[in-house]
Amino acid sequence: MFKVLKQVQDYAKESWQAAKYIGQGLSVTFDHMSRRPVTVQYPYEKLVPSERYRGRIHYEFDKCIACEVCVRVCPINLPVVDWEFDKKAKKKKLNHYSIDFGVCIFCGNCVEYCPTNCLSMTEEYELASYERHELNYDNVALGRLPYKVTQDPMVTPLKEFAYLPKGEVEPHGLAKGAQRAGKRPEEILEEIEAAKPKEEAKPEG
Ligand code: SF4
Ligand code: SF4
Repeated sequence: MFKVLKQVQDYAKESWQAAKYIGQGLSVTFDHMSRRPVTVQYPYEKLVPSERYRGRIHYEFDKCIACEVCVRVCPINLPVVDWEFDKKAKKKKLNHYSIDFGVCIFCGNCVEYCPTNCLSMTEEYELASYERHELNYDNVALGRLPYKVTQDPMVTPLKEFAYLPKGEVEPHGLAKGAQRAGKRPEEILEEIEAAKPKEEAKPEG
């Protein structure tokens, strides 16, 4: 008799636990049912990359002094700087420059250390190609102005989650000038600039 009661008690306990776990799982499901979809209908819609996104590198041939700093700071010595010494002008003459984006890890070191700022990271991320050698960009390809999601008339740009207004979870149908949650880098810089005279005005000592 005692054994039967124990079995009934265990059965009731396990049933209660099973019901609890099913309830927990369904609560997650129902929670998602009440949320709005955040699907991006690529390629008709595209997310605007974040401000410091490290996409395809842009290069300005006329500003390059062939110093090869970019090669030395690159973890894989990737940029190819083809130059020769011009004896008449007594300075380097740049012939070609290339970066292979099939190998580049987009770390941004070359951009960071270039003394003439002729390299810059862009927000271009669509580099897919059928032939890997096509990813080896020469100075002409590197000099092409970057593609911008916001300037393509065929594409609806969507704000990334980080830039949505506070409390907003869906990037569709936002008003054009809708405020984003965080401050823009230029706003932060303005604040720093505004704070500067106060610091300078502080008495010495
Ligand atoms: S660091 Fe800049 S200036 Fe020097 S070779 Fe590289 S791209 Fe040219
Ligand atoms: S982004 Fe990094 S890996 Fe790519 S070329 Fe520049 S330094 Fe090299």
